[in-house]
Amino acid sequence: MNDFSELRKEVSSWINANWDPSLDLITWRKKLADSGWGAPDWPKEDFGMGLSPEESSIIEEEFSKKGVIGAAQSGVRLLAAVTILEHGTREQKDRYLKPILTGEENWCQLFSEPGSGSDLAGATTRADLIGDEWIINGQKVWNTSAHHADFGLLVARTNWDVPKHEGISYFIIDMRQKEVEVRQLRQMNGHASFNEVFFTDARVSRENILGTEGRGWQVAMTTLAYERRSFDRARRVSSDMAGDASIYREYEMELEKANEPYKWYPQRAGRGDLVLETAIETGAIENAAIRQEIARFHVLNESAKWTAARAKAAQKAGQPQGPEGSLGKLAASRVAQSAARVHTSIMGNGALLTGEGSLKDGILAEVLVSTPAISIAGGTDEIQKNIIAERVLGLPKEPRFDSGPFRDVQKNADKSST
Ligand SMILES: Cc1cc2nc3c(=O)[nH]c(=O)nc-3n(C[C@H](O)[C@H](O)[C@H](O)COP(=O)(O)OP(=O)(O)OC[C@H]3O[C@@H](n4cnc5c(N)ncnc54)[C@H](O)[C@@H]3O)c2cc1C
Repeated sequence: MNDFSELRKEVSSWINANWDPSLDLITWRKKLADSGWGAPDWPKEDFGMGLSPEESSIIEEEFSKKGVIGAAQSGVRLLAAVTILEHGTREQKDRYLKPILTGEENWCQLFSEPGSGSDLAGATTRADLIGDEWIINGQKVWNTSAHHADFGLLVARTNWDVPKHEGISYFIIDMRQKEVEVRQLRQMNGHASFNEVFFTDARVSRENILGTEGRGWQVAMTTLAYERRSFDRARRVSSDMAGDASIYREYEMELEKANEPYKWYPQRAGRGDLVLETAIETGAIENAAIRQEIARFHVLNESAKWTAARAKAAQKAGQPQGPEGSLGKLAASRVAQSAARVHTSIMGNGALLTGEGSLKDGILAEVLVSTPAISIAGGTDEIQKNIIAERVLGLPKEPRFDSGPFRDVQKNADKSST
């Protein structure tokens, strides 16, 4: 079996020759991007080395062991990168990929609308080509991090006279223009990670379409497949290796800003790690019925981890996306719901308390109002079940009433389609 010792030696000697913590973060990351070691599984001509995901994770391990800061990974930027790598033109790759790796530019995903979330192909935000520019009008919603994004991945309608999946296109939009208005939304858990985004004659230059006109659905599938397969992650250098150099402070500040919209995500996942500890602290562990609930949660949680491990192994081996994405997403929802239920059984009304004196500083109350989000983000539970039923089990498709020209299809929010 390959232990990748040659690769480890190679990366180690590159690090010894090049890692310089006295550089500022962006200068270091530019060097990293140019070398290919920052994104080793990207193609050689696109700031990568054409290596496999497995080799890539070996390199990541070596970076981490030596306290070396890698390419920027947090936020929506990796969704942007995989989509541009697969569908972008040479010019788009040259323009956007490097600042993604250096962390100089932030991205957001502009898919959902008030009248079309699950039904992404029903988007009614419009893009009209006038001269050399696409003019964008409409509204998006639930757009994580749009309030500090430089660019957005935008799905908009370019043709109203063909079936809905054939009339949408995919754009890269500059979020810093004044014709794009971003309003933050406050959630029931108190955080404000989402936004509404309004476009009033916003502009996208003609060449900033990703893929071709009317093929936006296919491009969006690339983004969504990646989103379901890998939850947002931010790599940290191991703290015992992180030194005093100012590059580490810059990195920590970058992570803090980028991760701000995601800081409630552990609560969204149910905080199963607190179940046993709270049961012991409160004495609820003495109750046989609660012990059974805890055991049920444990079984669900462990089997979900194995499903995730299987998906990861398939990904590492370079296998195409299977049903694991939808199964894993559904399992994550079940685990979160089950954890929320057990927390409530253990704590009773106490699980609702926040503020001074509340057990676990109100974390459990935050769990209760955050777990519903995991059943919605990146495709709802019902949508994952539809995918599993139709594409994995081969069950008959749902009847459709929207196959004609989109102009004639009844819309969720019946805006004018002309
Ligand atoms: C944490 C989080 C982060 C998000 N980040 C972003 C982001 O960055 N960018 C972005 O564009 N969006 C984002 N979203 C929005 C998300 O993609 C949508 O909320 C999601 O796709 C569901 O759409 P909707 O809210 O319009 O619900 P709807 O589509 O209106 O669904 C309402 C209900 O109907 C059910 N339903 C709908 N269609 C069917 C069907 N065919 N069969 C059975 N049941 C059905 C759904 O399951 C749901 O229960 C985020 C959402 C969350 C919670």
